[in-house]
Amino acid sequence: PQFFAHVPPYGGDPILSLMEAFQADPRARKVSLGIGLYFDDEGRLPVMAAVRQAEAALAAQRGPRPYLPIEGLAEYRAGVQRVLFGAGHEAVASRRIATLQTLGGSGALKVGADFLHQYFPQSAIWVSDPTWENHLALFEGAGLRVHSYPYYDLATRGLRFEAMLETLRGLPARSIVLLHASCHNPTGVDLSHEQWRALIPVLAERALIPFVDIAYQGLGDGLEEDAFAVRALADAGLPCFVANSFSKNFSLYGERVGALSVVCAHEAAAETVLGQLQATVRRNYSTPPTHGARIVATVLQSPALFEAWRDELAAMRQRIQAMRQQLHAGLDERLQGRQPIGHFLSQRGMFSYTGLSAAQVDWLRHEQGIYLVRSGRMCISGLSTRNVGYVAQAMAHVLA
Ligand code: PMP
Repeated sequence: PQFFAHVPPYGGDPILSLMEAFQADPRARKVSLGIGLYFDDEGRLPVMAAVRQAEAALAAQRGPRPYLPIEGLAEYRAGVQRVLFGAGHEAVASRRIATLQTLGGSGALKVGADFLHQYFPQSAIWVSDPTWENHLALFEGAGLRVHSYPYYDLATRGLRFEAMLETLRGLPARSIVLLHASCHNPTGVDLSHEQWRALIPVLAERALIPFVDIAYQGLGDGLEEDAFAVRALADAGLPCFVANSFSKNFSLYGERVGALSVVCAHEAAAETVLGQLQATVRRNYSTPPTHGARIVATVLQSPALFEAWRDELAAMRQRIQAMRQQLHAGLDERLQGRQPIGHFLSQRGMFSYTGLSAAQVDWLRHEQGIYLVRSGRMCISGLSTRNVGYVAQAMAHVLA
């Protein structure tokens, strides 16, 4: 019984604990705006039509289940490159991108972090203030030193772009810079295209290593638009790490579908990098799982399924935007300009940093059964035509 006495209890994950508290709440009017999942207007996780069709086709094949190669399914990896960079991109055509199938976006971040820790041992990683909580745990767990650069501005509910650039200009060469491509988690505040165009030369001049996290492609402004930063970095000829996830935009959370792509200067470098990424995976979990990658590859390879997926994803995005507008309208009606609320419209993706304090978040939870993360982060896709009026009323009450 004394053997594990030195092992401290795990504090748990605050967002997952919030979900459990929500589920245990008996109130009928309760609203879950905590966890970052995309829910439809009925509050359900969608099963996308293209996914259902791909699964039916795969089930009909009933083939054997060999190990996948360490780097994953070839058709899947090619599909990832087309979705991220665009089918005709020069970097894809010249085969200078090393793409490896991973266990979700988290797996991509971890494999990339392990590689960077091994081959760039002097380099620290810089993340936005704030960022997805698990970035810190993940990078520290991989042995990287983690620092933050200015990002969110509470006063304007916008971006501290000049301060961000200033910090990046002062970093040692080969520092790693974690960037959210779009739909920033947790704030919803993104760089404009113009700001990306201003940032990229700074990364190049200072010889910094961009590591782009793209977990919500298609849920901000569109599939192409949300990948702007990834493509602009590749166009600029910078070495670049890209961790992507299909958890949200395919609604395939538990299947763990993601990829790590490393953009290199030429094909030979990409082959070498891919080899070392394979080594990293081999000594970790050996090879990736089959099912999710086969679903995604089937959809991405078939023009008809791809179109169906893209259309359904567009409808998800439009629902998020409609909820932003309805929340804003409901607040505007009641607050009449007494509080700034324009950020609910200008922020992008599933999340909004509302500007609510922890005390206000607690009040909403205890008095109204409305659950947000205590940072004030709201998951917009938890809103629906049924509950958005109720949420606007409660939020207006706490803000007034
Ligand atoms: N990056 C960000 C910014 C995320 O929000 C998430 C998911 N919450 C991930 C990465 C990880 O995605 P996955 O669930 O596919 O591991």
